[in-house]
Amino acid sequence: MKIYSHEKQKLHHPKSYFSRGKMRQPQETPERLTELLKAPQIMGLEVTTAKEIGIEPILAVHDFDYVEFLKHGYEEWMASGEEMGEEVQTTVYMPNNNSGLGILAKAAKYQADGSAPIGKHSWTSIYWSAQTALNAADSLLNDQTHQSDIQICLTRPAGHHARKNSAGGFCYLNNAAIIAEHLLQKFQKIAILDTDMHHGQGIQEIFYDRKDVLYTSVHGNPVNFYPVVAGHEHERGYGEGYGYNINFPMPHGTDETGFFNHVDKSIEIVKLFNPDVIVHVLGFDVYKDDPQAKCHVSTQGFKTLAKKVKALNKPVIILVEGGYCIEKLNENLQAFLSGLISKD
Ligand SMILES: [Zn+2]
Repeated sequence: MKIYSHEKQKLHHPKSYFSRGKMRQPQETPERLTELLKAPQIMGLEVTTAKEIGIEPILAVHDFDYVEFLKHGYEEWMASGEEMGEEVQTTVYMPNNNSGLGILAKAAKYQADGSAPIGKHSWTSIYWSAQTALNAADSLLNDQTHQSDIQICLTRPAGHHARKNSAGGFCYLNNAAIIAEHLLQKFQKIAILDTDMHHGQGIQEIFYDRKDVLYTSVHGNPVNFYPVVAGHEHERGYGEGYGYNINFPMPHGTDETGFFNHVDKSIEIVKLFNPDVIVHVLGFDVYKDDPQAKCHVSTQGFKTLAKKVKALNKPVIILVEGGYCIEKLNENLQAFLSGLISKD
């Protein structure tokens, strides 16, 4: 097992979070990574500092102009001469019929909601979050010996809500999609197993008409719950991708047994697909006391989840994404890691 992370992911520090009609306290904070990093340290597990792989795999998924906006939007915002807040943030989402002239038009084009502001150092963290994920993919591309069959990336900001050309839901670059695409250089079939509390509509959208990347997700019913616009059972893919997008929305209030019933069905789909590599999007926001939780997974439940993923007996890259019960991230990650390394 190998663990990757990068300290520069702590630089992104959102100040605003506008959702469901009001300003809220940002939940996706740098402390999240500080807490996650405690787990391997306490367990005596080494964390490898990610090295730079580069921008190319990012541009294989995301539009160039969108990536330029993420990179330079903050400078343009500050240089506009208007009275602006301290982060690039918009209340307008207009992806089409938008000239893109001026930073406010760009923000309206590329920011899908009020939960993905861009501050001075956001791009650095966004970039290193993707690089951290890419390190695991690159090691599978280069690894002949399968030494690194289980790899876990402690990433922030997360990625699964990011679309090809817009940010939203605390996400900017779609790390799971980026590494799936990158892995296809060598492998034929990639399965993305998403167990975050929220549906990864960005991943779904990116691979909706493809059968080389399976997307299966267990998440809270999206009716009036983020990402609100997608994540239903009837969304099964399009064209040759039909049948390669499988959603398992859970009723709100689902207990731990119910969660694992859904996870088991999702895992069966992965087995049927028989992928070369599995990308597991792991959200600790399914934890019972998480402010985003609509189900009740216990700390011990993360150990069970890890064992199920390990039992698939395939090369797997785990991306840690959601999880906002900050004081429990360390303990919950320890439980998950103990499941990965346990012999029973
Ligand atoms: Zn989530």
